[in-house]
Amino acid sequence: MRAKRGKLTTSLMLLSAVPLLTFGLIVMLITSEIIYSSLREEVRYSLGVLGTFSYRTFEVSYPGDFEMPGTVLFKGGKSLEGRDELVDDLKETSGVDATLFYGKERYLTTIIGSDGARAIGTAAETVVTDKVLGRGETYFSDHVLVNGTPYFGYYQPIRNSDQSIVGMMFVGKPRNVVMKRINTNIFMVCVSALVMIGIAIGVSYFYSRKVIDLLKKTEKFLGAVARGDLTAGLEPEILERSDELGEMSRFAVILRDSIEAMAGKDALTGLYNRRSCDVVLNSLVEKAGRENGMFSAAMGDIDYFKRINDTYGHQAGDEVLKMVAHAVAEHMEHLGFAFRWGGEEFLMVYEELDREQTFARVEKLRTVINGREMDWRGEKIRITITFGIADYGEAKNVKELIRLADARLYSGKSSGRNRTVVCCDGQDGE
Ligand code: GH3
Ligand code: MG
Ligand code: MG
Repeated sequence: MRAKRGKLTTSLMLLSAVPLLTFGLIVMLITSEIIYSSLREEVRYSLGVLGTFSYRTFEVSYPGDFEMPGTVLFKGGKSLEGRDELVDDLKETSGVDATLFYGKERYLTTIIGSDGARAIGTAAETVVTDKVLGRGETYFSDHVLVNGTPYFGYYQPIRNSDQSIVGMMFVGKPRNVVMKRINTNIFMVCVSALVMIGIAIGVSYFYSRKVIDLLKKTEKFLGAVARGDLTAGLEPEILERSDELGEMSRFAVILRDSIEAMAGKDALTGLYNRRSCDVVLNSLVEKAGRENGMFSAAMGDIDYFKRINDTYGHQAGDEVLKMVAHAVAEHMEHLGFAFRWGGEEFLMVYEELDREQTFARVEKLRTVINGREMDWRGEKIRITITFGIADYGEAKNVKELIRLADARLYSGKSSGRNRTVVCCDGQDGE
């Protein structure tokens, strides 16, 4: 039972946690992708604007065409040799690396090579030069290799006044720098998503626990009933619920009540059964002790009942039992309690009467039963019954009371049946 209980908690938890985590994971993946592409676009746009703007500024300062008669590059007749500040200023103000390419080689650049010096004279990737120098288009990549290091880079062609392409302008940011920012954003989103999933799982755990606690209470209740404790109960909190748990708990209580009814009453005759007689007798003993009162017991046994069964069948026997029980119950209505003691034996407990007073009543009952005929499939069945009576005054305890009544009943049987034996001196009715 305990293992199953644990399993139910786990199952309910999995039921809420698995979809939430799956859903959360999908949301995180999609959100990460959206964050990445939107930031990539933002970087592309800002590099494009920065590249165009800085080249225009450079054009204003250096109007005219590029030419390179020897190893020195000129623009509009002004030498660009050693004019590193043209790219350094951009790096300082905007935080981006910049390169002025003449042809496919770096002429002015902030890119530092593995030797620690500016990577002048090194070439751009073929994929870049093909597109920018070859086709005159701009080029953007989030993974372009700049002198061996991955970059978010933007390249645009540089033209002379005759529109011939002479080189490229590059602006870019090392990929790890950009990715740091992107990853921080993704991390923040994932953390928020995880916190929300955690809260959702917590809430669902709270409600699961509540349901499990209610189930446990019902289980405990049923366990107590199963062990015979019919005083067990369930709290109104569960019984008043309008859901399946409430319905189940109400059925459990009905079940207990039915068991209680079955345990106390004999199913065939509707009289109290032998088990319930202790409670009645004990309370009468207590009352008698308290009030110095009296009560008596009469044990009755149908005569030759086996013959009825044998002659007319068991079903007829049952009907006889019902008939006698009905007469007994009717008779006892204001006198006390009647029990089905065993097969065809009945115990009657008379409140406040001694054995003599009881004798008169029992005789009346015996006459009633004697006078009744039972019609069984066209045949008349007559019944007689023998009684033995004892009272608490002579017995002093319940066990003795029953023993005396039983002994007198059997003395009645052996002296011819269909009579009431009240005492040893032969005062009996026939
Ligand atoms: P005596 O006069 O000495 O009491 O004889 P008897 O035949 O009544 O007593 P005996 O104890 O020999 O038989 C009782 C029978 O009652 C035996 C049993 O099969 C039957 N019996 C017990 N319970 C039931 C029941 O619930 N229904 C039916 N039909 N028969 C029952
Ligand atoms: Mg008997
Ligand atoms: Mg009998």
